[in-house]
Amino acid sequence: MEDTTNVRATVTGIGVCSGIKAGRVYHVTAPIEEPAPGLRLSPREDYDKAAARIAQASDKVQANLEQAAQRATLESTREMLEATATMAADPTLVADAQRRVREDHLVPERAVWEAAHEVTEQFTALGGYFAERTTDIRDIRDRIIASLTGLLAPGLPASDEPYVLVAPDLAPSLAATLDENLVLAIVTDGAGPTSHTAIIANAKGIPAVVAARGATELLAPGSIALVNGSSGIVVNNPTPEELEAALKQSDVVRTFSGEGATKDGHRVQILANVGDPASAAEAAAAGAEGVGLFRTEFCFLDRETAPSVEEQVAEYSAVFEHFPDKKVVIRTLDSGADKPLPFLTFDDEENPALGVRGYRTAERSPELLDQQLQAIATAARANASTDVWVMAPMISTVDETNAFVASCEKHSLNTSGVMIEVPSAALLSGHILATAKFASIGTNDLTQYAMAADRLMGVLANFSDPWQPAVLQLISATCQGALLHSRPVGVCGEAAANPALALVLVGLGVTSLSMSPRAIPEVATALAAVDLEKCRDLARIAVACPTAADARHAVRDALPELTALGL
Ligand code: PEP
Ligand code: MG
Repeated sequence: MEDTTNVRATVTGIGVCSGIKAGRVYHVTAPIEEPAPGLRLSPREDYDKAAARIAQASDKVQANLEQAAQRATLESTREMLEATATMAADPTLVADAQRRVREDHLVPERAVWEAAHEVTEQFTALGGYFAERTTDIRDIRDRIIASLTGLLAPGLPASDEPYVLVAPDLAPSLAATLDENLVLAIVTDGAGPTSHTAIIANAKGIPAVVAARGATELLAPGSIALVNGSSGIVVNNPTPEELEAALKQSDVVRTFSGEGATKDGHRVQILANVGDPASAAEAAAAGAEGVGLFRTEFCFLDRETAPSVEEQVAEYSAVFEHFPDKKVVIRTLDSGADKPLPFLTFDDEENPALGVRGYRTAERSPELLDQQLQAIATAARANASTDVWVMAPMISTVDETNAFVASCEKHSLNTSGVMIEVPSAALLSGHILATAKFASIGTNDLTQYAMAADRLMGVLANFSDPWQPAVLQLISATCQGALLHSRPVGVCGEAAANPALALVLVGLGVTSLSMSPRAIPEVATALAAVDLEKCRDLARIAVACPTAADARHAVRDALPELTALGL
């Protein structure tokens, strides 16, 4: 491969979290591969010495994890690293691997692999808490093997200096552990603008560019990258002038407090998307008028077994308490496709995005939905001033809607609604909203299903674009249906975080916008700059366009107000 470390070049993707940052490039390191079975030491080798290397490697892994824990600024990351370090200190795995070296003469890395396999099998059979620890055992295994073989530990780079993270793609579980004080920006070859990697980057406020094809090749480890999370342009080894000019632009700071409204006073609630109590605190601090989407599955992504009702009550309460006298729209578990929850997902599906995901899991595991609604109701009673609304993800039919609303009513959760993420639900909104009290449009999935384009695939980014006129027409249809029953319709997909598109959504009839807390000041500023009638004009312009690019450009051309604001 050509050495691009010192070459000035650009790669363009889709900016998914605004902000301009520059820093040294680090790559996510590849997973450790299984050492070949039966790989043995030669009879001339010193077996005791080979066994001793395993203990040394394990000590080193433990020390590295402890150091990383001390450096971590996010409490959740620190706790996770400390817990892994404690597990790495457990002598059982090392002793078993050493025995395999001495007795079976396996090479140390194979011995560690087999010893870890045995522990994970036992833990899986024990179930519960132990089964949940198997991911940690594999993580420790891989770190010890990496140390034994001179490879880099898989996953995030072990760097003390803040860096630009470049990866083919990032698993949501890895993205969730990113430390925003260490990761300046993210650039991925793959992942679409609506992937959960993009959503997590946004929530953490890390400028990110996704679907930047060729990025991992062009942005070599060690080079300097200038990342613009708005325009999607990444410059490899920029000139000093380019750096200075770009970083100056990033100095404008906006804040929001109060109530969202257009210039002529038409109210549009500005809400936040949250995934756990920490992001709820951030949302409250950002001035959000409430929560428009609480992704409850984000609390339990690393769980092998279902959380108890008590655990759920604790998580939900900890979110509700940040919003006294305000609205929190909590979504029931949305498991499946790129967010599989091991305890609620079926791994035998060929097309998981079209399979038993979202509300559909309730049919196979009705007790989990019931327990969750019980937990939500208990947490809502404990935070009586919070206005708790409940909604189900990925509803496709009127029957599902009626069943969900009835389940909620059993728990006295009377403000129950649905997410509109499937075209059939958008077209049926007039019927659906006869029962459901509100709708929240998930434009990420609505785009995926309207365009038949996997939202995770960077190569399909042109399809995965909420500016697609067909998607806008579906949003319009949803709002028309809602009008029949005077029901509120929010948007909680990433589309709501784009200032220009947010205005189009308001023009289409959307009554609230929910987004990552970081996007709130920009969207609120854009809204306050135009009248409702102007939003309606923009909506008419966008819906009438034949392509997404035409819609985006036509709306931008009609919005000198935003350009003047630097948005
Ligand atoms: C959406 O699909 O737009 C949405 C908000 O839900 P999620 O991104 O969690 O699938
Ligand atoms: Mg969705």
